[in-house]
Amino acid sequence: MKIMSPFTSLCAVCLLIGFSACQAEEPKSSKTETKMETLKPEVVLSDEEWKKRLTAEQFAVARSAGTERPFGLIYETFEKQGEGTYYCVCCGVELFTSNEKFHSGCGWPSFYDASKAKNVFEKVDNSHGMARIETVCKRCGAHLGHVFEGESVSKDTPTNRRFCINGVALKFVEKGGKAPELLVVESEAVQKKKEEVAKEGGVEAK
Ligand SMILES: [Zn+2]
Repeated sequence: MKIMSPFTSLCAVCLLIGFSACQAEEPKSSKTETKMETLKPEVVLSDEEWKKRLTAEQFAVARSAGTERPFGLIYETFEKQGEGTYYCVCCGVELFTSNEKFHSGCGWPSFYDASKAKNVFEKVDNSHGMARIETVCKRCGAHLGHVFEGESVSKDTPTNRRFCINGVALKFVEKGGKAPELLVVESEAVQKKKEEVAKEGGVEAK
C-alpha cells in the first residue's frame, strides 16, 4: 500500500492538472464564440429561401449542421477528383483547393488547410458533448464540417490538421473550369425599402 500511495497522489495531481487545463480553456472558447458572433455573414437568407436553392441533403448539412454518411458516393467521387477548386455550395465562394487535399481514410473529404482565399471560419462547437472546432463558410455561415489537430492521419501533412468536410457542402470545379457565380443578396435595408415601395403600390418587391 505504501508503494501505491505516491501513484495515487500522482494520479490525483494529473486529474487536477487535467481539470485545471479544461477550466483554463473556457475563456478561450467563449472568446472564439464571441468572434463568431461578430462574424457577420455577407449572405443572409431565411431557411425557406435556402430550401428553394439547395437539395434536401445540402440543406440538412450546410444549413442545419448535419453530417453526411461517411464512405458514400460523395466521398468516392471526391477521392477520384483531380486538380481543381472547391466552392461553397450555398454562396459560391472559394473554400479549398486540391493542393491541400489529402487521403485521411476517414470517409469524408479531407484537407490539411483551407485555400488561400481564406473563406473558412473556425468556431468552437460544444454540441453532442464534445469540444470540437467547427468550420463554416465565412461569407454565408454554411456548416462545412470540423477541423482536428495533431492526429496520426495528418502527421505527414504540412499543418498536421485535418479539415473533415462534408462533400455535399462543396462544389468542385476542375482546374481551368468556370467558377460558380457568387450569390449576392441585397442588404436588409434595401429589401425593406423595396417592400415599402411595393406596399405603397409601386414596383413589386423581388
Ligand atoms: Zn458560403
